Amino acid sequence: MNFSSFNLHPKINAGITAAGYSTPTPIQAQAIPKIMRQRDVMGLAQTGTGKTAAFGLPILHRLLTEPRGGVRALVIAPTRELAEQIHESLSQLGNRSGLRSTTIYGGVGINPQIARLKKGVDIVVACPGRLLDHIQQGTIDLRRLQMLVLDEADQMFDMGFLPDIRRIIKALPVQRQTLLFSATMPKEIRHLAEEVLTDPERVQV
Ligand code: AMP
Repeated sequence: MNFSSFNLHPKINAGITAAGYSTPTPIQAQAIPKIMRQRDVMGLAQTGTGKTAAFGLPILHRLLTEPRGGVRALVIAPTRELAEQIHESLSQLGNRSGLRSTTIYGGVGINPQIARLKKGVDIVVACPGRLLDHIQQGTIDLRRLQMLVLDEADQMFDMGFLPDIRRIIKALPVQRQTLLFSATMPKEIRHLAEEVLTDPERVQV
């Protein structure tokens, strides 16, 4: 199997070539077609399996093929380091796309984040606490959101973020595609998945 079989936008295929990827990893082979059919997906996968591109490539594809305007994809991750890594991957894979991504997390000034959001971004990669601050202060507009990813959901549970996650999700459009990735499936994550996913497809590596 190769990436051309996914029928991704040519600008995304250019990004894949530039990143040096030649063969999809197993999670990519399973998840990309399902995500491109706009299904909700529950993915059981560890870091290192290529899960970032598994959700990142279909996000970039959909954002490129539909009308622009506003934050249309939101990725929520437990740590700043992971948020930065996801942002870097999306920037690399999307470097021919013209799509703009930014990170939002605490421990750094909020004003540069507000300025960046005002200038306009397509994708936000965020940690829960600071994202909730932006939502509560009205400094992020998520009314155009189409795609939500909860990455490393079990980690977010361990770090006590599930209440924040639930508050964030209440502020999002109900009509959206949701993807949830987790390395393990404790009952708290199963319950979260039942709340936030609609008729999900499951992928596991
Ligand atoms: P992740 O599990 O998303 O953190 O990805 C782990 C590493 O694998 C990252 O350095 C990616 O750039 C790399 N990677 C992801 N997909 C592929 C692929 N299809 N071929 C080669 N490397 C990949």
